[in-house]
Amino acid sequence: MRELVIIGAGVAGLAAGQELEQLKPLVLEKSRGLGGRLHSRTLKSAIEGPNTITADIGAQYFTARHDSFLTQVKQWQQQGVLTLWQGQIASWHQAKISHSSPEKRWVGLPKMQQITKLMAKGLDVQLSSLVTSCLWLADQECWQIELNQGSTLLTRRLLLACPLDQAQALLANNADEHSPPDWPAPMQPCLCFVIASKHPLTLDFDGLFVNDQPIAWMARNNSKPGREPHELWVIHLSSQASKQLINLNNPQRWQQLWLWLKQLELPIDWQDFQEIDCHLWRYARPADQRQQLFMEHQASNLWLAGDWLAGGRVEGAWLSGKSSSQAILDHFNG
Ligand SMILES: Cc1cc2nc3c(=O)[nH]c(=O)nc-3n(C[C@H](O)[C@H](O)[C@H](O)COP(=O)(O)OP(=O)(O)OC[C@H]3O[C@@H](n4cnc5c(N)ncnc54)[C@H](O)[C@@H]3O)c2cc1C
Repeated sequence: MRELVIIGAGVAGLAAGQELEQLKPLVLEKSRGLGGRLHSRTLKSAIEGPNTITADIGAQYFTARHDSFLTQVKQWQQQGVLTLWQGQIASWHQAKISHSSPEKRWVGLPKMQQITKLMAKGLDVQLSSLVTSCLWLADQECWQIELNQGSTLLTRRLLLACPLDQAQALLANNADEHSPPDWPAPMQPCLCFVIASKHPLTLDFDGLFVNDQPIAWMARNNSKPGREPHELWVIHLSSQASKQLINLNNPQRWQQLWLWLKQLELPIDWQDFQEIDCHLWRYARPADQRQQLFMEHQASNLWLAGDWLAGGRVEGAWLSGKSSSQAILDHFNG
């Protein structure tokens, strides 16, 4: 029997795991890599030159405001896995572009998920391990964890550090009294597109927040330190536009994207661009803004952490993981 199982090797799960070494936690992660939505994807290059290119398709950068996270960010910077993105950030409103005030925007080096590799050091992380259900066995006072490989394991304590909807699904077979009563609204999707141009663009912005449009954000990936020099742009749709395209096939999604891009009337010739990748983040952002940091259900030794409890950003995910670990330690120490 395990003392603690953590489900999810994103920022929240790993931040918690680091503090809980004495419980020798097992971290189960369904993907082949660490980092969750902090993700730079290596893509087969359709452009001349490199065989592969890397695009930041999830979190674009992160900020640090809380003292403890600032300290952590400085450490990561010294360890060489994080650096500042000095790109020019602007916002679009009714076809007018205005520049945003400077802010420290951090990116992983050379990939967004680089920090999670450091966080996972010394932890027992099992990748490619999709958990399919978690059942509280009241008579044995432990959780029964089912994995898709057909194996089962038992643990005294459980920390779910995955997006809200995935956590809810894992607990679905439990009686109501064994899972938290007040779930927030489901998370919102985000469709992400990656496009490339053979020609470098001359623009006075590297990142653009777009207001009140189907396109919510676009960024020049190659303006970030450590990325390949090719003109590569990452585009995120708003939650509403993502929902609109969610059931379409990829050619239909691309067709709509080009129409929406043209509507922005940017000084860009979209014909120079090639379609590189389209990725759906089904659980991208929380719908509600809670500031609860973590949830716990002490009667069944259950904790929940993740960005959806703490503002929907990398800093929130980290703070959520850390504070849940404190609660778990208090429980362990009686
Ligand atoms: C498109 C997009 C843009 C974003 N932009 C920004 C930004 O610019 N700045 C910012 O600060 N934040 C941004 N974010 C948010 C940021 O990425 C998240 O807040 C943060 O990465 C969440 O970390 P987490 O650990 O809470 O969750 P996740 O990163 O989602 O980690 C959860 C992990 O649990 C795993 N998992 C889920 N279910 C199971 C299961 N059944 N079995 C095993 N493993 C499971 C998942 O594979 C995942 O690795 C963005 C997110 C998206 C999607």
